[in-house]
Amino acid sequence: MNEHDSKRIVIVGGGVAGMELATWLGRTLGSKGKANITLVDREAGHLWKPMLHSIAAGTRDGYLRRVPFVAHAAHHGFHFCPGKLRRLDRSARQIEVAPLQDAQGQTILSARKLDYDVLVLAIGSVADDFGIEGVADHCHHIDSQAEAEQFNHDLRTHILRSLESGQAIDVAIVGGGATGVELAASLVQLVDNLGGYGAEHLRQQTRIRLLEAGPRILPAFPESVSGRVRRQLQDLGVQVRTDAMVQKATEQGFELKDDAPVEASLKVWAAGVKAPDEVCQLDDLEVADKQQRLKVTATLQTTRDEHIFALGDCAAFFPEDSDSPLGPTAQAAHQQAQHLASQLPDWLAGKSQLKPFTYHHFGALVSLGDYTAFGTLGRFGFFKGGFIRGRIAQFSHVMLYRSHQARLHGFWKGGLLWLIDRMSRWVRPSVRLQ
Ligand SMILES: Cc1cc2nc3c(=O)[nH]c(=O)nc-3n(C[C@H](O)[C@H](O)[C@H](O)COP(=O)(O)OP(=O)(O)OC[C@H]3O[C@@H](n4cnc5c(N)ncnc54)[C@H](O)[C@@H]3O)c2cc1C
Repeated sequence: MNEHDSKRIVIVGGGVAGMELATWLGRTLGSKGKANITLVDREAGHLWKPMLHSIAAGTRDGYLRRVPFVAHAAHHGFHFCPGKLRRLDRSARQIEVAPLQDAQGQTILSARKLDYDVLVLAIGSVADDFGIEGVADHCHHIDSQAEAEQFNHDLRTHILRSLESGQAIDVAIVGGGATGVELAASLVQLVDNLGGYGAEHLRQQTRIRLLEAGPRILPAFPESVSGRVRRQLQDLGVQVRTDAMVQKATEQGFELKDDAPVEASLKVWAAGVKAPDEVCQLDDLEVADKQQRLKVTATLQTTRDEHIFALGDCAAFFPEDSDSPLGPTAQAAHQQAQHLASQLPDWLAGKSQLKPFTYHHFGALVSLGDYTAFGTLGRFGFFKGGFIRGRIAQFSHVMLYRSHQARLHGFWKGGLLWLIDRMSRWVRPSVRLQ
């Protein structure tokens, strides 16, 4: 098969699932001229989403961790098309990418149409505001790089004002899931580290509150983990409130059901997860649930179109014998990308049928910044579940990212990047100061 008659694979979304898939297919098919692979993303670079909370807090530098799509594509045998998916035409097997604009609203690239033989949708998820009044107008989200950067910008402004005038910094985070918990801990770490740059009194001027509607934080973890994490957060100075049902967000803070309002100058909405609203406009593809995820078959194909696959957070995959879809995790996104990468080449060449995807649960982790981490082990091999904490859980959490990095760059380059990150901790400030 030559470049001219090779199959066109378009992947929309270069996150955990899409970037790993594009890299694998680029290496195995694209660089050998066996397929033409295009990755579309609204951002210019790839970032490991589970670190967005630390970029929002400023305890990690997003710029240093970003992998520019153009360079990565050029080195791995695929093309990159910048922009946001705007329209899908299933009968023409074509997508339209919206015009690309700069920060001033000037059009840099006009709308583009891309033809495909296979389309893979991997556009991730966003927090769900459940239609609660005021959330869209008054709250920060940290679902994308741009939102994490915006929060960090506003946070630094508040810190500067507080240092100058002594004004208190009140942060309230809604959502006691992993995102809210990890953000709260990273904010404490930021304030602690700023103490080392002469802002010792910032600790007394900062109040961080975590509001959860349910009876406990981290509902996806066992109760023992929730309890330990809650105590650890409280020891770090975070005020944790459960059964705190937010009814309205305002300029001043949050109004709660059956409780006094919570005042906050910085408000973050990190509750609930749903697929981005765009999925509902994708030429009548079937949506599975209220979280508007795309329903997929056992082979990860969307139910109404076998040429369109959906992976990761935007897909609703129901494991065999289960009524509920897989949760939105990087672990599931990675395994689905790996599965599709192994199946697509032979299927496209007409050599075999697609095999069903099987999910292996290796456990779950939550990191409290540099302080500690907690996790549960899945049931696999000789592990029959269990609980880890402290250094071993922190190391496991780090390994999630480092193994993703190795999958993108290869073992040696991935290792070198790890080393560079470690070394830059000695020579660069531990938090973002500008
Ligand atoms: C703070 C935080 C901490 C987390 N911690 C963990 C953890 O410890 N362990 C774990 O397993 N999971 C964790 N998660 C969840 C994990 O990040 C997601 O499950 C995972 O990133 C999903 O991968 P994905 O490829 O489906 O989507 P993403 O990685 O979100 O990628 C989606 C991509 O699509 C692009 N995109 C979106 N819309 C469009 C569009 N219309 N057009 C073009 N491009 C588009 C985005 O720019 C992005 O690059 C965490 C999430 C957050 C927010």
